Amino acid sequence: IIDIQHLNKSYGTHEVLRDINFSVNKGEVVSIIGSSGSGKSTLLRCINLLEKASGGQILYHGENILDGQHDVAAYRKHLGMVFQQFNLFNNHNVLNNCVVGQVKVLKRSKAEAEKVAMNYLKVVGMDRYINAKPKQLSGGQKQRVAIARALSMEPDVMLFDEPTSALDPEMVGEVLKIMKDLAHSGLTMIIVTHEMEFAKEVSDRIVFMDKGVIAEEGSPDQIFNNPTQDRTREFLKRTL
Ligand code: ATP
Ligand code: MG
Repeated sequence: IIDIQHLNKSYGTHEVLRDINFSVNKGEVVSIIGSSGSGKSTLLRCINLLEKASGGQILYHGENILDGQHDVAAYRKHLGMVFQQFNLFNNHNVLNNCVVGQVKVLKRSKAEAEKVAMNYLKVVGMDRYINAKPKQLSGGQKQRVAIARALSMEPDVMLFDEPTSALDPEMVGEVLKIMKDLAHSGLTMIIVTHEMEFAKEVSDRIVFMDKGVIAEEGSPDQIFNNPTQDRTREFLKRTL
């Protein structure tokens, strides 16, 4: 679905991403791992155009959406994003959090949007909390709502940026469980995570980033059991 070629990103003279070649196919689950500052979030933000790439191509179904001729808003509708810090609308209740984007961006009627939202709130087990405000929820519950909100847009690809890093340890499991179910449901997912056991279990492919480049990529078995690069081995030794 998404094919990134020779992507670069610099902030001033600081090259944060260098010659990134990365793709994800329909139904595939790809996890991105790597040290802090290696460029994982920047890569996700370039994919969904929250950051402007300095060079290279992002092909979506074979068309370069960075060529200036494409409807960037239309492309972004196909991507769902879940952030470390939830980014819920604090003044809206749970149901409305999942409705406003559908009405504004997808031009769905309120009734239809509510139906879709309820469906995904059930998927994440938050349908009993539709009238709650985010501040009344635990971190794990907030993240489950954030996932339902993204799913309500029915994106082609879901991007997750360390969705469990801001959670208390006892809430990590409930969010990972939902992500596992989504992965097994055939959803296309790109996941930045420090949860190595989870990545090993759900991913079709693992991408290891180091200092702005993709240092190694392969199946979970290859990356975790037979890495070919010294820096992959060192990273895994530090984290496992
Ligand atoms: P972490 O695991 O800590 O989330 P990361 O792999 O997601 O790290 P990024 O957040 O992508 O790393 O950052 C990569 C590099 O880009 C870092 O050196 C960071 O300081 C730099 N960087 C990120 N955003 C900006 C910005 N807006 N302006 C300048 N430099 C930035
Ligand atoms: Mg990050």
